[in-house]
Amino acid sequence: MTYDLVIVGGGIQGVGVAQAAAAAGHSVLLLEQTGVGSGTSRKSSKLIHGGLRYLETAQFSLVRESLRERALLLELAPELVKRVAMHIPVYRSSSRSPAKIAVGLWLYRLLAGCGEDSEFSRLHRSSWTSLDGIRTDDLLAVYRYVEAQMDDQALTQAVWQSAESLGAELAMPAEFTGAERHASGCEVRYRQNGRESSVAARVLVNCAGPWGREVLKGIEPAMHVPAIELVQGSHLLLPNRFQHHFYLEAPEDRRAVFALPWQGQLLLGTTETPFRGPPENASCLSEEREYLLRALRYYFPDQAVEPEEVTSFAGLRVLPSAVGSAFGRSREVLFSADDAGQPRVLSVLGGKLTTYRATALEVMERLAASLPSRRSVADTANIHLTPP
Ligand SMILES: Cc1cc2nc3c(=O)[nH]c(=O)nc-3n(C[C@H](O)[C@H](O)[C@H](O)COP(=O)(O)OP(=O)(O)OC[C@H]3O[C@@H](n4cnc5c(N)ncnc54)[C@H](O)[C@@H]3O)c2cc1C
Repeated sequence: MTYDLVIVGGGIQGVGVAQAAAAAGHSVLLLEQTGVGSGTSRKSSKLIHGGLRYLETAQFSLVRESLRERALLLELAPELVKRVAMHIPVYRSSSRSPAKIAVGLWLYRLLAGCGEDSEFSRLHRSSWTSLDGIRTDDLLAVYRYVEAQMDDQALTQAVWQSAESLGAELAMPAEFTGAERHASGCEVRYRQNGRESSVAARVLVNCAGPWGREVLKGIEPAMHVPAIELVQGSHLLLPNRFQHHFYLEAPEDRRAVFALPWQGQLLLGTTETPFRGPPENASCLSEEREYLLRALRYYFPDQAVEPEEVTSFAGLRVLPSAVGSAFGRSREVLFSADDAGQPRVLSVLGGKLTTYRATALEVMERLAASLPSRRSVADTANIHLTPP
């Protein structure tokens, strides 16, 4: 049998492509080496968000698309994706003034189509004392706006469940070991239960996230490997004493730090640390842990944290290579194909969990010339997602 698509990687991008392809009537085999949603897609900040800060780097189309997908996911997956009120405190020492934050929130509202989830407000100072003990000296304003939160691994598994119900197949644990590409497709090799197998595909889709470069290196004839970097983002999990969700600025370098109640704990993140080595070795460094705890203590001086109460996890962002800080770099997904006109291998690297569905639709468009036409069986914009 020849599959229309063989996808490597059962993170959000891989399962999203599996769902879109199966909905379009294609035969799909997904290869996942560990578990569905076991990579980066369970190490995110757990936000389904537009990305307010991407406005500063003029990533308007990404923000608009993210806000559209946020609205859709709130409808399609109400048990998995929940609205939360996010708070931005602005101090005399903050890098952005209250007026700048207000302009950003107006723009965010416009890009969200001015719907009910785009409303924001400036809190009256009398309510500051109810904000979980936030430092109020030199506090100029606190803004509240809407975002959404989810369990990233559960959402990834729910999307897989949907793909499977549409006929997609899964080999797991199954490790992609190499592929030969030719004019009409690929011969894909993988190892499962200690045995080497191979399967024919019209198209191979590389959704291996931080492992994407290794997958590309296993393909013959050799093809272009895009210039990407892995940047580690760590989170801490602490016992939760918060009622509110905060979007803060790290006092030392003004990067974004979230303090978010999540599943009975406080999720505190993230960092941006250049990473080298096998992706499975990513883990929170002691300096990242100190950086995050310093930010927490700075804004919430009364919060005492016992070292033994803190657990952590680290994920890897796949970003285009560039000089300087990772903070301002594009968060758009990177596509790389062996042949733009009629790809036989397409890599889908980086991007955001929030936009997985839109990314998957773009993948299907890019692959249209390489796939036979099939009768579509569903539209992912209408498929309800239920907890796994
Ligand atoms: C710190 C951090 C915070 C983030 N926060 C957010 C957020 O709040 N909201 C948001 O929208 N986005 C967020 N993102 C982005 C989002 O998490 C990622 O873009 C997304 O999870 C990437 O998914 P993926 O499927 O590309 O990769 P992964 O989830 O890493 O999946 C890749 C899969 O490929 C498998 N694989 C690798 N090699 C092989 C092989 N040889 N054979 C078989 N399988 C293989 C792996 O086991 C893995 O399961 C964040 C990212 C980071 C790093």
